[in-house]
Amino acid sequence: ATSATIIDGKSIAKQIRDEITAEISRMKDAIGVVPGLAVILVGDRKDSATYVRNKKKACESVGINSYEAHLPEDSTEQEVLKYISGFNDDPSVHGILVQLPLPSHMNEQKILNAVSIEKDVDGFHPLNIGRLAMRGREPLFVPCTPKGCIELLHRHGVQIEGKRAVVIGRSNIVGMPAALLLQREDATVSIVHSRTKNPEEITRQADIIISAVGMPNMVRGSWIKPGAVIIDVGINPVEDAKSARGYRLVGDVCYEEACKIASAITPVPGGVGPMTIAMLLSNSLSAAKRVHNFK
Ligand code: NDP
Repeated sequence: ATSATIIDGKSIAKQIRDEITAEISRMKDAIGVVPGLAVILVGDRKDSATYVRNKKKACESVGINSYEAHLPEDSTEQEVLKYISGFNDDPSVHGILVQLPLPSHMNEQKILNAVSIEKDVDGFHPLNIGRLAMRGREPLFVPCTPKGCIELLHRHGVQIEGKRAVVIGRSNIVGMPAALLLQREDATVSIVHSRTKNPEEITRQADIIISAVGMPNMVRGSWIKPGAVIIDVGINPVEDAKSARGYRLVGDVCYEEACKIASAITPVPGGVGPMTIAMLLSNSLSAAKRVHNFK
């Protein structure tokens, strides 16, 4: 039996962070500018607080200034909008990130639309997504998780052009932009979602699979074409009595089975996860470079 190569997201992300650190110091020396990222967190969701903390730590590690606005759960939409407009006007802030999900009484669309597209480092503004979808147009930013998936393929030397790619999932933040990106890279792309009949018949044709569903072990060995490359975005807790926390994290893909049939695969954790944050740092750096016209 063959055994897939592991696409080591952790070490690739480290390499990217090192490149970003060097670029930031080059920019600081040349024009005295340090990139700034503002994060808006509303409410007390534990997972969101952890993500925000990790993003701030990552900023520090590469030399990006981070600013945080932490608002209470019962804040009004108006208050959030006020912070966004403050950060939009603040020249030391180059990127603005609104941690999702927002409390249910807020209109996510209205809030995301308020972020200046020049500072939309999450790439979720409809103008950026629209440009991503259009030929000959360039988005200012591409959403971090799908951008990280493509970066993993590039840095692992996977050819995308002319290949058949299948994306499982079609969310605004992962699946849909991942499919658009693969298409921009000249793959032939199919999208599998919750209403797809016989998904395995479609995935079995794929040279590249990006899975972003949120269901442990959904993609079995029999779903995979021999030699395919698998990017597993899913992060799913499953019970594990042997772990101190009582659970461990797995992807959407049955890893043991996939390893026997794929040519390369990302592990969970240690695959796409670290890349998402690295791409956020990269987007923050490019935001600062763009506004100061620093090449
Ligand atoms: P969503 O819940 O927003 O989207 C899930 C998608 O999967 C939907 O498009 C849904 O289809 C589809 N789906 C659900 N069930 C099935 C099924 N049985 N067969 C095929 N498709 C199905 O999730 P996200 O996109 O936000 O996240 C997906 C996963 O990626 C999660 O595990 C999340 O934790 C993880 N994630 C990881 C990140 C990282 O940095 N590594 C970052 C972001 C997310 P439909 O549209 O029809 O409902």
